Amino acid sequence: MSVASLVSYEQALERYDPVLGLEVHVELDTVSKMFCGCPTGFGAAPNAQVCPVCLGLPGALPVLNERAVESAIRIGLALNCTVAVECRFARKNYFYPDMPKNFQTSQYDEPIAFDGWTEVEVDGRSYRIEIERAHMEEDTGKSLHVGGATGRIHGAHHSLVDYNRAGIPLVEIVTRPIVGTGALAPVVARAYVAHLRELLVALAVSDVRMEQGSLRCDANVSLRPGPDAPLGTRTETKNVNSLRSVERAVRYEICRQASVLGDGGTVTQETRHWHEDTGITTPGRSKEQAEDYRYFPEPDLAPIAPDAAWVEELRETLPEGPRERWARLQAGWGFSDLEMRDVAGAGALVLVEQTIAAGATPAAAKKWWLSDLARRANEQGVEPAALPVSPEQVAQVQALIDAGRINDKMARTVFDGLLAGEGTPEEIVVAQGLVVVSDETALGAAVDRAIEAHPDVAAKVRDGKVAAAGALIGAVMKEMRGQADAARVRELINSRLVTVTPGSDLASQ
Ligand SMILES: [Zn+2]
Repeated sequence: MSVASLVSYEQALERYDPVLGLEVHVELDTVSKMFCGCPTGFGAAPNAQVCPVCLGLPGALPVLNERAVESAIRIGLALNCTVAVECRFARKNYFYPDMPKNFQTSQYDEPIAFDGWTEVEVDGRSYRIEIERAHMEEDTGKSLHVGGATGRIHGAHHSLVDYNRAGIPLVEIVTRPIVGTGALAPVVARAYVAHLRELLVALAVSDVRMEQGSLRCDANVSLRPGPDAPLGTRTETKNVNSLRSVERAVRYEICRQASVLGDGGTVTQETRHWHEDTGITTPGRSKEQAEDYRYFPEPDLAPIAPDAAWVEELRETLPEGPRERWARLQAGWGFSDLEMRDVAGAGALVLVEQTIAAGATPAAAKKWWLSDLARRANEQGVEPAALPVSPEQVAQVQALIDAGRINDKMARTVFDGLLAGEGTPEEIVVAQGLVVVSDETALGAAVDRAIEAHPDVAAKVRDGKVAAAGALIGAVMKEMRGQADAARVRELINSRLVTVTPGSDLASQ
């Protein structure tokens, strides 16, 4: 269904109440896999990080990674969950070429953590998100479909399988149905995933790189006629891999389902694929019921019974809560509520924090991440964190500005260079010959020419309309092709046009 043939979002919201459910898979950043000693690094040659256990060869026996259990418990505690006194792994049986054992070792009716909650802020309002469970499981391998236009299996000539990812520990965090968000449903969905990501960064349990798949979101959406009606049939849009896509996918599904229902149709319970390029979802497989998986307890792994004292020790290692963290950062940075929300909404809270830690002022850190870098990330369809520009480099660029060596316009050229991989900010400044002209004679002459060329503006400045000086500064900057020191130009203009009255502060200088 193309976007054009859908009812508008506003129409959909007039007729239906959306209900969300979010399942987030987090890859833990353990050194080794969940049940074997294979390394977990991203980007290795295909099938270079495998062994009999993660390949599911006959007779191979799993050994549980203690660090993975520790991380799962800490995630559960941070989400205010109850940690199971005893729980087990289960086999989830299904065939998929990228899953060599023909079952996934997961948790079914005995998750390690359950019955939690967390809160997200949207537009100054707090939404409580109930967490049904956080359970452990292993990741599958990856199929690569070759020869088709879309990279999907349809139209492909053949497929390749890479088992490097098979057996990497995951925690799946599942919410209860999220109701009462109304028109903000897509924004709340995005805010929740952004909030989880911040939380996981603070816990230091995952590198949470959405573009590498270490944080993946399945978004369940259903519609009902009103807040008191029973829940409608839901669809599950799989593996949405950016915050922006989470918002767009939920919004699209609301419009699509409203169109189907409005035409007298019924929504099919199914998984769907999100298409970043066209902004639509298309049907995947019809959704299996739990009984289709023939779950049974994993016989090769002993039950997990985390010692109560150990759980309490882990509770002590939790980072400050999101609210405390938010309040601490806001107080330290001196940002308004709106500025904080803008930073968080752009997925830049940690980036701004790290840029400040690297020496930039809060205002400068916010400025670059929310303007130029956010725009470039948006153009590339990635999160700001995925840009090849580090917080340290942003701080270095700002330091060059503060030292008067480059101006804001040149900083943008430096960012171009950083994105193109041309070296450090210092190297790019040297290679491109970027230098602010602060030669007094050259600047003074340019200022005189600007005053002569704009007598009306100069008269206004003389009459005390200091703001009018902007037009003169602009003229000088244009003549100097953006390479003038704007602050010094303003001083030179003032020294020529602003009359110093006796007794004023200026006269005493
Ligand atoms: Zn292995």
